[in-house]
Amino acid sequence: MAYESVNPYDGKTVKTFPELTDEQLEAKIATASACYETWKKTPYVKRAVIVAKAGELMRQHVDRFAKHATLEMGKLINEARGEVNFSANILSYYAKNGERFLAPVKLNPEHGEAHMESSPIGVIFGVEPWNFPYYQLARVAGPHLMAGNTLMVKHAGCVPQCAIEFEKLWIEAGAPEGLYTNLLISHAQSDKVIDDPRIKGVALTGSVAAGRSISARAGTNLKVSSMELGGSDAFIVLEDADLEKTIPWAVWGRMYNAGQTCCASKRFIVVEEIADKFLAQFKAALEALKPGDPMDERTTHGPLSTESALQDILKQVNAAVKHGAKVVLGGKRIDRPGSFMQTTILTDVKPGNPAFRDEFFGPVAMFFRVKDEAAAIALANDSDFGLGGSVFTRDVERGKRVATEVETGMMFINNIDWSDAELPFGGIKDSGYGRELGNMGIQEFVNKKLVRTH
Ligand code: NDP
Repeated sequence: MAYESVNPYDGKTVKTFPELTDEQLEAKIATASACYETWKKTPYVKRAVIVAKAGELMRQHVDRFAKHATLEMGKLINEARGEVNFSANILSYYAKNGERFLAPVKLNPEHGEAHMESSPIGVIFGVEPWNFPYYQLARVAGPHLMAGNTLMVKHAGCVPQCAIEFEKLWIEAGAPEGLYTNLLISHAQSDKVIDDPRIKGVALTGSVAAGRSISARAGTNLKVSSMELGGSDAFIVLEDADLEKTIPWAVWGRMYNAGQTCCASKRFIVVEEIADKFLAQFKAALEALKPGDPMDERTTHGPLSTESALQDILKQVNAAVKHGAKVVLGGKRIDRPGSFMQTTILTDVKPGNPAFRDEFFGPVAMFFRVKDEAAAIALANDSDFGLGGSVFTRDVERGKRVATEVETGMMFINNIDWSDAELPFGGIKDSGYGRELGNMGIQEFVNKKLVRTH
């Protein structure tokens, strides 16, 4: 069954959902396309009422949304509540600012007058992952609906109830039929959607493999696309870092969402002078986390999203060890029901070890000891990914200089990678292209039309 709610805390299947037939899919595309014809002419203020209402409803029903996420992908309940509130904030942010971001811009040609309009382009197709089952949806719905597009989303197979809840939200918020459509469809059907002439743009958040396949399909159809893919972000600790503040960030950066975050801190690159101290304190802090029921607010270490996610990361750890890595903490599944992985630290990961270039999507930290700042930057840049990264130092100006040298889409000084409704999010290299959130996020699927008067 492609769409299944399985509780990763105990491995029990809660509910399964059938995929749409091709006929049902066709009817939904037709409805989304018809809706676009009226929605594109709907004034911003009216669009904003619906988008803002959806945000309000999420805030009012935090627990209803949060519990589905915890049940289906094991997110700690407080983190799930945080995600729901943040998603609500993203919707409110675009309801408030969408019109301003897309206002006509006056240009200054040598002769005559000109301006640039931003108009919607049609039905946008989103393919979204399970790791933030609402935030990922809000990140596309807020901007692209405010821009006057309509949206169809294929969510990940393991979070169908979250997907259905989010679609219901729009109906409750007063959206016309076809404004936001959830699609329980296969990969083959997803290809058909991309090929369909009524679909005008494709937004993916997911793995590099999905990015290659979906961006190629969109490219063949000459459709605009944005790709938010994986990452292996560096967490650089310089010798002048304040360890008391840095260690909690290291734990949070690696362990938030059980480590299943594209922009999680994955490679801990520490300058020799303080490396031993950092490693000892980081290890102790990770050991203190308590595995348990993610619905219980006292739990600090939840399960991975699925059994197959756990199996994948165990395989990666074993391959890393086979190629010379040392396990200084964890490395195995936790001996209890559910898909729990021990908090793990790997050292001695050298170039040539597959782990050196891999992304660990779970609670596995790679620790690297380097001579100095220059070596830290060089190692941070020796990655196929380029999503985000952080640098910890008491000297903020030095931190900014390091940030400039690191080849990523985002850098954070004395903080971990984080996302804000107001700030652009996205990467370079294998981490993809395009930006979500902020003013940049709403510009991805609009027609920048030049209008000139002579
Ligand atoms: P996948 O790429 O397998 O899944 C993500 C979504 O893409 C799911 O909806 C999945 O559907 C769909 N999908 C995958 N392949 C295809 C295809 N060929 N055609 C159509 N749909 C497809 O990712 P994972 O589940 O492995 O999720 C984690 C990955 O996503 C990590 O690598 C992570 O770094 C990345 N990610 C990036 C983020 C970012 O913002 N840059 C944020 C979160 C995650 P289905 O479930 O049905 O297979």
